[in-house]
Amino acid sequence: MRPIQMVDLQTQYQKIKADVDRGIEEVIASAQFIKGPKVNDFRQHLEQYTGARHVIPVGNGTDALQIALMALGLKPGDEVITPTFTFIATAEVVALLGLTPVVVDVEWETMNISVEAVRRAITPRTKAIVPVHLFGQCADMEPLLAVAKEHHLYVVEDACQAIGAQYTFSDGTVRQAGTMGDIGCTSFFPSKNLGCYGDGGAIFTNDDALADHMQAIANHGMRVRYHHDEIGVNSRLDSLQAAILDAKLPHLDEYIAARQAAADFYDKAFSEREDILIPGRLAASTHVFHQYTLRLVSTDRDAMRERLAANNIPAMVYYPIPLHMQKAYRNPRYREGDFPVAERLAGCVLSLPMHTELDNQQLEYIVRSVLA
Ligand SMILES: *Cc1c(COP(=O)(O)O)cnc(C)c1O
Repeated sequence: MRPIQMVDLQTQYQKIKADVDRGIEEVIASAQFIKGPKVNDFRQHLEQYTGARHVIPVGNGTDALQIALMALGLKPGDEVITPTFTFIATAEVVALLGLTPVVVDVEWETMNISVEAVRRAITPRTKAIVPVHLFGQCADMEPLLAVAKEHHLYVVEDACQAIGAQYTFSDGTVRQAGTMGDIGCTSFFPSKNLGCYGDGGAIFTNDDALADHMQAIANHGMRVRYHHDEIGVNSRLDSLQAAILDAKLPHLDEYIAARQAAADFYDKAFSEREDILIPGRLAASTHVFHQYTLRLVSTDRDAMRERLAANNIPAMVYYPIPLHMQKAYRNPRYREGDFPVAERLAGCVLSLPMHTELDNQQLEYIVRSVLA
């Protein structure tokens, strides 16, 4: 049996090596390392794949979120609502821009932002909501978008973990993660579902004016060379990463299917155990399983993690501390106990190995070790 890894990027690379290597060689031969034609090729292919009217490639997912918020013209003190159970980047950019992160609790089953909690957190200063499609499943966007519309709030989706996930609205419309709100953000960090071999990210929008604005912000606030209309940043996807991503994008659907097959295997194995809860599903969304995350309700998580480690099975805790309990984000308005679901999740979640290269022998072995 091959050693079990949280993510196996080597085996995945071996299967597409010829295409990836050719793309890299083309970039090096052209010496167009920044803003080369590969970046535009990939941008167009990603527009086709996602159905987004505009894709803006940027340096990483965190930059994508920052540029998105910069484009909305928010003012210091404006409030931006985010879930408290997420990766730090979601709130980090809000705080960096002098905006006020307002955190809310999540749903126990899906671990995604609670729309009811969002509704209760809205004040006259609220300007935007940043839902996170955590672990690869869309937040419940139809009611969330309705709340946003009712209160005239922007919606910036953090789709860093959910590229390719699909949400079906009650009228039958199907949209991809990142293309439902005003702006969507994704990351191509190597371990993400569509990962490059370094840092990368992209912004999605269907709004022409926002697209133009974000393109300028990502390029030093510049539309005409050396004319700076506003203060921007420098954030680009480089040509080598674009070539790698362009070689991988045609495989994204099979990668998603492989993750879903592994998740089905896990689901079946754990479905009878009352102390090991499988990831809850939202009927309206597909799940692309960036992570397969169990909730261990009466089993001791740390003991389980140690037992798996003793069997050479890695397992990770995403995320051990909710935002409102992070030292850097302590805020007198929040106390431990304020967000009971997120706090309970932080204490009981455990993510199992999840990637495109898990075979049945490995899955059997992981399942046996979890159930032992
Ligand atoms: C990975 C991730 C980010 C940040 O992406 P980077 O490319 O690492 O900057 C933001 N939000 C979430 C939910 C993520 O998982």
